[in-house]
Order: sequence, then structure tokens, then C-alpha cells
Amino acid sequence: MTVEHIPIELLTRTQRQVFYAAIDGATTKEIALSLGLSRRTVEGHLARIYRRCGFLGFTDMVRRGTLHHDCCGIREGDAT
Ligand SMILES: [Zn+2]
Repeated sequence: MTVEHIPIELLTRTQRQVFYAAIDGATTKEIALSLGLSRRTVEGHLARIYRRCGFLGFTDMVRRGTLHHDCCGIREGDAT
């Protein structure tokens, strides 16, 4: 299976935290609680993540993000 590179380097630190939490299985509500953000704020981050990385939506992000995660092994701590 081809694994694409997802340009997470284009995301802010918070957006990366949202992204990794989502591909680890968290819901929008759970992400909001864990990061101390409102659900609306998380949804705003998600919209920017979709646009910057070219995801079609949450499910597409999780599917493609999980493949990328397995391929590159990039975690939160690697964020610059
Ligand atoms: Zn990659």
C-alpha cells in the first residue's frame, strides 16, 4: 500500500496535538477536553488541518493519518 507524506510540518503545535489525538481514536469532544479547548475551537483547528493537508474530513484524516503515522513514526514530541 502506498503511504503518502502528510505535511504535518505545515500545522501549528496545537493542530498537531489535535491531529495525533484524532488518529489515536479520540473524538472531537475528547480532544477538546484533553487540550482544554472548546469544541468549537477544536473544530476550527480541524478545518484548517483538513485544508492544509488536503483531507476530505475527519474519517479521511484518521485513515490517511494513521498510515502516515505508521510510516514515519512522528509523534508529538518531534514537533518543532
Ligand atoms: Zn511522512
